[in-house]
Order: sequence, then structure tokens, then C-alpha cells
Amino acid sequence: MSKVLENKVAVVTGGASGIGRATVLAMVEAGASVAIADVSVAAGETLSGDINAAGGDTIFVHTDVADGASIDALFEMIDARWQRLDCAFNNAGVADESRFVMDATEADWDRTHNINLKGVWLCMRHEIRQMLAGKGGAIVNTASVAGLVGWRGSATYSASKHGVVGLTKSAALEYTKRGVRINAVCPGVIDTPMGAPATQTEGAVHDTLLARHPAGRFGHPEEVAKAVVWLCSEESSFTSGHALTVDGGYVAK
Ligand code: NAD
Repeated sequence: MSKVLENKVAVVTGGASGIGRATVLAMVEAGASVAIADVSVAAGETLSGDINAAGGDTIFVHTDVADGASIDALFEMIDARWQRLDCAFNNAGVADESRFVMDATEADWDRTHNINLKGVWLCMRHEIRQMLAGKGGAIVNTASVAGLVGWRGSATYSASKHGVVGLTKSAALEYTKRGVRINAVCPGVIDTPMGAPATQTEGAVHDTLLARHPAGRFGHPEEVAKAVVWLCSEESSFTSGHALTVDGGYVAK
């Protein structure tokens, strides 16, 4: 990968696993310094340590994106370390309990929305402020194909991801002219720990979801990471407010 993020500072939430982890590695490969934010301490510290041992420049910050004080501390750490922020990937997320609307619980609604949607909003407020104080920047939020079309049996999750798309587009209308581009990625089913119940388990769920992907396969986290690096780089300088599918054709049906 070419050094399209040379001398850039980036933050990746949910950076210790799956799509976030692949994006941290792709950003480092593209020349960026990266703050890895996650609730998963062991995986985050190991990833950061391995990258730094190989000559990269990262920090791991134990962060709960559903907690405003934790987010405040994350961005204070980034400011203390680099005094700038150029790119952000707001990606931390969880699946819901997979129940029909009538059976879904208030606790699951709150947990899913606090992490998947409020967490993105809390991060964006800091990121936009820091980017406006600098030379602008690029923000990418992780939505999902479930943020573009309905997902039978996961309305709670789908609602949170539709929220991410709406938040992304609205913020783009507000800040693009001032130099902060804001986009979303909408992955199909990706082979990560979150996607494993579909990708790694034989059976009806696997077969049904596989059939929804015209590509005839599930996605790899590295394929989403490449899209995120592009959206964070000057290569996408006229792209803002876009919800980019990385889904093997899922929503084209
Ligand atoms: P993953 O489980 O491998 O990684 C998610 C990461 O987020 C984990 O490291 C986890 O510790 C972290 N996290 C969870 N709650 C957190 C919190 N409160 N604060 C900070 N970090 C937290 O899953 P993934 O598949 O890589 O998912 C990444 C994003 O992609 C999520 O937003 C998910 O909704 C979205 N997504 C995934 C798929 C898929 O099929 N895997 C498809 C579409 C969208």
C-alpha cells in the first residue's frame, strides 16, 4: 500500500479486533500514527506493542465508547501525544440479541445504541473540534448494510446503524466546507469474531446470509480496511456524506 497517510495521526475505536484491527494495520502500513481505542485491553496492548516493535507509532488507550468521560480521556491522550488529529475511524460496535421487535429488551436497545450510535457521536464531537483546530481531516464511521436496508430479527442493531448513516450525512452537511470530510462504510457480513456465527458455523444462518451476497462469499476485514484508508486519504478529497458499501453486492439486490 502506498503511503497515503504519511505523517497523519489517526484514531481507531474498536481497534483491537476484526475490522478495526485490520484498519489499524492498514493505516500504519499507509504511514499513519494510530491511537487504538478499545475495551479489550489484552488484545489492544498486544497489537500496539507488536506494531511499535516493528517500527510503527501507536498507543493503546483503554476506552469505553459508551462512556463520555472515557472518550474525554482518549482525546486528551491523543492531544498530549501528538497535538493533532487528521483521521478517525469510529468503528467500535456490538451485535444485538437478535430478537424480533416485540421480544427485544430495553436493556439491549440501550446497550446497542449507546455503543453503536452514541459512541460515534461522542467521538465525532472531539474529532471535529480537533480537526477544525488543525488543518481539517477525515472521519469514517462504521455503519453496516443493516444501516441501509432492514435486517429481519435485528431491528435494534439495524436502527442503530441507520442512525450512524443519518449522523454521518448530517455532520457532513455541517462540516465539509470547513475541511472535515465525514463518510461511513457499510460492510456486508465480514469474517471477524462478530461475524463468526455466520461465517464460521455451518448451518441455516450461514447458508441464508451467504446467499444474500452476490459475490458468493463473505468479506475479509482487510477489504473494509482498504476502503477506510481510501476515505481517510486525500485520494477521496471530493467524497463526503457518502455511505460506502463494502458488501459483495448485498444491497444491490
Ligand atoms: P469485532 O467484535 O471483531 O470487533 C469489535 C471491537 O469493538 C472489539 O475489539 C470490541 O472489544 C470493541 N468494542 C466493543 N464494545 C466497545 C466499547 N463499548 N468501547 C470500545 N470498544 C468496544 O467485530 P467487527 O466485525 O470487527 O465489528 C466492527 C464494526 O463493524 C462494528 O461496528 C460492527 O457493527 C460493524 N460491522 C460488522 C460486520 C460483520 O459482519 N463483522 C458487518 C457490518 C458491520
